[in-house]
Amino acid sequence: MNTRPSNSHPLQTETDIHTVTTISQALQGARHELQACSPSPAVDAGILLCHVLACTSAHLIAWPEKELNAEQAMQFEQLVAQRKQGTPVAYLTGTREFWSLDFKVTPDVLIPRAETETLVEFIIETFSEQPSLNVVDLGTGSGAIACALARERPGWNITATDVSEQALVIAQHNATLNQVNIAEFVHGSWFEPIRDRQFDIIVSNPPYVAVNDPHLESGDLRFEPTSALTSGEQGMDDIRRLTQQAGACLKSGGWLILEHGFDQQQLVREAFGKSGFIDIIQRNDIAGLPRMSAAHKA
Ligand code: GLN
Repeated sequence: MNTRPSNSHPLQTETDIHTVTTISQALQGARHELQACSPSPAVDAGILLCHVLACTSAHLIAWPEKELNAEQAMQFEQLVAQRKQGTPVAYLTGTREFWSLDFKVTPDVLIPRAETETLVEFIIETFSEQPSLNVVDLGTGSGAIACALARERPGWNITATDVSEQALVIAQHNATLNQVNIAEFVHGSWFEPIRDRQFDIIVSNPPYVAVNDPHLESGDLRFEPTSALTSGEQGMDDIRRLTQQAGACLKSGGWLILEHGFDQQQLVREAFGKSGFIDIIQRNDIAGLPRMSAAHKA
């Protein structure tokens, strides 16, 4: 007798003890479920199933016929349902890779993105000969930039700040998780907690999305902290503040290095120029979009 009602789905196993779900069926079902709502249904399905089974993606490929137990099937089903509602994969698994390091992420922090590696790459390349530098990552969020720099240059003295105490707790956790040494985590808005100090490098991935940007209504951005994303009508409020105030916290010749929107290159160049920064260097991200500007104090 067929115990499964005709409209049942391979993922709905918890009510039917005779039905088993294999890895391959679970993936297929999830891909189908996520097709309409995710730009990457197959990748999402794979990451979520690896999370549930605590396995690598190679395991999924090697063992397509392996069965999920009832608990695993139910947990996977729940995650797929949440993903279907739009929750970012990184918030569902609680982690995201950046610079080949693992970062814990929660809705208190922006999810680290590939474009931000552009800043890390630039800093490592440009200052590779400097054995000791004082660096501050302003608005560190998950700690992605600070931890990546600390991993590459353990001799540098790195400070990380954030206005969100919850974010600082996560950044601290990520430094421990990745066994990197961040000299100090300090709480406060932009220059407030470092007012009396001077650095060789100030780096930041500030909020830079315009408040009415339609992208805020789609994808992962809907679930990320608005305070880490938006910054006034042009998305330039925090970038302007950073360029205006950074000079006081930089040694002479010190660098300000900022991430920005792909369409803000010219505005950022002007903001740097107005505040007396020189030798402006702009870089494209991995997608070929202008994403980073760096300049130094005279
Ligand atoms: N790069 C992110 C995005 O456009 C925004 C991050 C930020 O505002 N710092 O999705």
